[in-house]
Amino acid sequence: MPSMQRDPASLLRRVGLRHTRPRRLVLEALLRARTPLSYGGVHAQIAAAGGSVNLTTVYRILDRFAACGLVHRHLSSGGVVLCSLPEEWGHHVLLSCRACGRVEERCDPSLCRHEDRLAARAGFRSTFHWSEVVGTCAACS
Ligand SMILES: [Zn+2]
Ligand SMILES: [Zn+2]
Ligand SMILES: [Zn+2]
Repeated sequence: MPSMQRDPASLLRRVGLRHTRPRRLVLEALLRARTPLSYGGVHAQIAAAGGSVNLTTVYRILDRFAACGLVHRHLSSGGVVLCSLPEEWGHHVLLSCRACGRVEERCDPSLCRHEDRLAARAGFRSTFHWSEVVGTCAACS
């Protein structure tokens, strides 16, 4: 894995968002999480760490983060995970382990090219791709 800066300030800088205290607290909660978090779970994690951001603000921040690809909505749990490959263009695939709940991420540009051809035939222009594979991770199988 490339040596990527995973601190809140560099993540925000990468997507061009201003650094604010609530955004930093949301990112810190996601960085600590080992498994996808629900929006309420992010809110609870911030409170458990001694911070305070109201739930409406947490929702707004997570929606904004999802829109710029900083986090992914996790399809099978309905939660959110931090994108671990934000600098890579291509299809982001979340690998979800059913046994331990961990999520790994891989990226493949060729998958997107194939999907974009399919979308283009419907007159559709894509902006982002992601999907999820559910199964068992290397450590659990
Ligand atoms: Zn991603
Ligand atoms: Zn596992
Ligand atoms: Zn794709």
